[in-house]
Amino acid sequence: MENKLFYKKNFIWEKLSSDERKEVFTLGDDYRKFIDASKTERLSIKEIVKRAEAKGFVNFENAKEVKQGDKLYYVNKEKSAVLVVIGKEKIENGMNIVGSHVDAPRIDIKQNPLYEEHGISLLKTHYYGGIRKYQWVAIPLAMYGTVVKANGETIDIAIGDDENDPVFYITDLLPHLAKDQDQKKLSEAIEGESLNVIIGSLPADDAEKDDDGKGKKFKYNVLKILNEKYGMIEEDFLTAELEIVPAGKSRDVGIDRGMIAAYGHDDRVCAYTSLKAILETENVDKTAVALFADKEEVGSNGSTGMHSTFFNNMVAEMIKLQNNGEYCEISLKKALANSSMLSSDVAAGVDPTYPQVTELQNAPIMGQGIAMVKYTGSRGKSGANDANAEYIGKIRKIFNENNVAWQPAELGKVDQGGGGTIAYILANYNMDVVDMGVPVLSMHAPYEIISKTDLYMTYKAYKTFYDKF
Ligand code: MN
Ligand code: MN
Repeated sequence: MENKLFYKKNFIWEKLSSDERKEVFTLGDDYRKFIDASKTERLSIKEIVKRAEAKGFVNFENAKEVKQGDKLYYVNKEKSAVLVVIGKEKIENGMNIVGSHVDAPRIDIKQNPLYEEHGISLLKTHYYGGIRKYQWVAIPLAMYGTVVKANGETIDIAIGDDENDPVFYITDLLPHLAKDQDQKKLSEAIEGESLNVIIGSLPADDAEKDDDGKGKKFKYNVLKILNEKYGMIEEDFLTAELEIVPAGKSRDVGIDRGMIAAYGHDDRVCAYTSLKAILETENVDKTAVALFADKEEVGSNGSTGMHSTFFNNMVAEMIKLQNNGEYCEISLKKALANSSMLSSDVAAGVDPTYPQVTELQNAPIMGQGIAMVKYTGSRGKSGANDANAEYIGKIRKIFNENNVAWQPAELGKVDQGGGGTIAYILANYNMDVVDMGVPVLSMHAPYEIISKTDLYMTYKAYKTFYDKF
């Protein structure tokens, strides 16, 4: 007899039919294609637009009107995007929004990066987001980015993921000579200024003299190759955005293939699941929105981060077009305040090797469903959005009615640490917002891990939110 009084969670797999189990693996395979094509925020947005256009979404820039059933996308400076399915009701009545971010922790190349030392050419870097620096050394790395040349021409760089490409590398000490380094704290053993990326090791036959009067043949050889391949000169680095990410593709993990290891699950796994959900959304009452933000890992600032008004501007324009050119600002304010949002970001799953950092009664178990993080913040909920009971009560109802497995989550033990998402930014418009996303292990590591059943359940959760909320 089932006990009705106790709260009980289940492993999703045990409750799935054989058809649903097949769907879990099909979805895992498609997600792997998505994440392998989305190694940077720019590439993520490209892949999102490609998939949206294939499903009939049209560029909002060309929209002359906005009416029920329209499927629109808007791209902001190649780094953030919005997908919209217009509902039956007016936009002022509110939207159902799922918002993720497409940037991930990585290592950025500095503006004037190139130098040579002891027969090796290297690039100086400045890491992006919260990385544990020791995890990024002694692994193969790829380089992606955009270079704007003196004449204004833009070129795209992608080196390291094709199996015929070379890769890049950050060295670490050998154990035989690491006595001093081994005594340091883990957080200090590898310094930010030590994350220098090897880009070359052969000297040019001759070299121009650098400002110090020396002919730097190793550095010159790198510049010669870049010039032949891309028409670049050294000054072009100053107007480039070059990102170093782990080289290689995602892989299934475990003999049962139940998990996926990939770079950038945080937060492209929530981008993917919300993308898939909105691409399959039609005939909704409330307008459905999938937001894909940039810069979350560094505080959501900048014109492509969630603090920017790009989304509000788009909503304002949609309202204007829906009302035959009529617009007043109160409509925008109403639209935002009447909206409901799932801030779709990953959660820290229980790691069986390090359970001591989590409070196990309130931490998400891998394979038990999408994690609901009522509050983020740290040490006394500082900075937390802390969603209303009434709002999460409504979500609980539709999820339970539609067999969506969800579980409560907290970012670690109360005094252990903490973090934030984009939730509070949208909540500032008086919108109901709660964090809901996929549990992850080894978050922010070069390769993170997720469960395929959680991937499946998260997609189902976002779809249910669009259809039923
Ligand atoms: Mn995140
Ligand atoms: Mn993160």
